[in-house]
Amino acid sequence: MKIGIIGGGQLGRMLALAGHPLGMQFVFLDPAPDACAAQLGEHLCADYSDNDHLRILAEECDLVTFEFENAPADTIAFLSQFVPVFPPAEALRTARDRWLEKNLFRELDIPTALFANIESQHALEIAVADIGLPAILKTRQLGYDGKGQKVLRTTTDVIGAFAALGNVPCLLEGFVNFSGEVSLIAVRSRGGETRFYPLVHNTHRDGILRLSIASTAHPLQQLAELYALRTLDKLNYVGVLAFEFFEVDDGLTANEIAPRVHNSGHWTIEGAQCSQFENHLRAIVGLPLGSTEKNDESAMVNFIGSVPELAQLAAIENCHPHHYGKAFKPGRKVGHATLRCADRQTLEESICEVEALLPANE
Ligand code: AMP
Repeated sequence: MKIGIIGGGQLGRMLALAGHPLGMQFVFLDPAPDACAAQLGEHLCADYSDNDHLRILAEECDLVTFEFENAPADTIAFLSQFVPVFPPAEALRTARDRWLEKNLFRELDIPTALFANIESQHALEIAVADIGLPAILKTRQLGYDGKGQKVLRTTTDVIGAFAALGNVPCLLEGFVNFSGEVSLIAVRSRGGETRFYPLVHNTHRDGILRLSIASTAHPLQQLAELYALRTLDKLNYVGVLAFEFFEVDDGLTANEIAPRVHNSGHWTIEGAQCSQFENHLRAIVGLPLGSTEKNDESAMVNFIGSVPELAQLAAIENCHPHHYGKAFKPGRKVGHATLRCADRQTLEESICEVEALLPANE
């Protein structure tokens, strides 16, 4: 079976690494000549809106999926004429627009921050009076890793904030006082079967994920699954969906969803019975889903900007290094390590050993 993937970054690469043992082949469409997934399959180096190349992708592949949800809506509409596309177009449309996403949470009775649609500086000022400060102004589309957002703490911060984000449609969100950030990786098959991985506790710095630790019997697991299930069923979803939550006093506040495999699920490659990548592929091709049970205690440390010396990583017991084959650049995700240990204390010690190898300024 041949799978087309929109996007050729590390998520596509890890999908291919999971799919090769299942006998799958991959074709990536990505405009970057050095797309790192291209080492694992055929690369169509073209823009996401290049219909000639989209047609080649559709003709060559049995189905198409995404590792990058910000491809234009027209891309999905065009592809869908020729080939099955998963996750469904409606899920992609909702997840890449914060306004639609927040409205979906509201409709499904999933708690989320106060929010308002902002299309001008004047609208921002009215919304700030209503929602209050601090608040966060985020572009409705194309934000990632904390980009396309501005924290508004004082009325001075509000001045010119809409222009500072490029005069594009935005969302104003009330500030959530959270005690932690967790994510749930969920998967739904073509037949409607669902599975959920254990909740993951995430630590960010400068808007970029640094560390994910898979939890054991998290008290909010059931609640997270309930919210995710509502969302999966409503969207008639197929594939992996990542759900990001804030932990608050009375439970969970939904932050956002990502309609794809997710950085906070990378630990599942070694840390779970069946990885998020394999389960995404199983879901979209119509295979039974694999077990989402956690093996031992597990965590993931991201490598941002550069990857430590392989020899040093390999010397750490229980450490599984991943190098994405990308050029090193400040702020760029270029690799990660999964740690898999028999007990929590050993896991924490191993995390410290890996973190000690990270450059101080990244
Ligand atoms: P996002 O791009 O929406 O995931 O936001 C990036 C990071 O900003 C999150 O991981 C949080 O740490 C923080 N953040 C986003 N939205 C809010 C909010 N409404 N209240 C407090 N912190 C937030």
